[in-house]
Amino acid sequence: MDNCKKTCLVDCDAGRRMGCATFCCRKLVRLQPDEMEPTDDATPPKGFVDKDPEGYCIYFDRNSGHCTNWERRPKVCREYECNSDFLLQVVLRKGFKNIADLAKTAVNTHILKENYIKIPVLHSPSDKNNNTV
Ligand code: SF4
Repeated sequence: MDNCKKTCLVDCDAGRRMGCATFCCRKLVRLQPDEMEPTDDATPPKGFVDKDPEGYCIYFDRNSGHCTNWERRPKVCREYECNSDFLLQVVLRKGFKNIADLAKTAVNTHILKENYIKIPVLHSPSDKNNNTV
């Protein structure tokens, strides 16, 4: 599991059934400098992906649970591995309302690594056609 980043994908459909609430696509998605769109004027480029009014990434399709920008999703999304994220463990046990509430809850939550609940992994050598998030 620990070496899974580039070779496996988490089964997001299973994760949602387990209660992950797709919180990862409601986090701040920061862009690398080479992913930022240059501006026409002297203002600095935007360093994050926009959110919709309910806090979801604008590329997240709530009907399908898929990323509509999968082929071009930001590096942070490609490298994020939810099964090692403490916040996922909090969400699976205490639910998710919003990021601010989660951050407050996490401060007062202690979960040992050996007790982490793991979202199943889809073993796939290529993520080309799998756009679940
Ligand atoms: S995986 Fe796609 S939907 Fe999720 S945060 Fe990244 S760009 Fe947005």
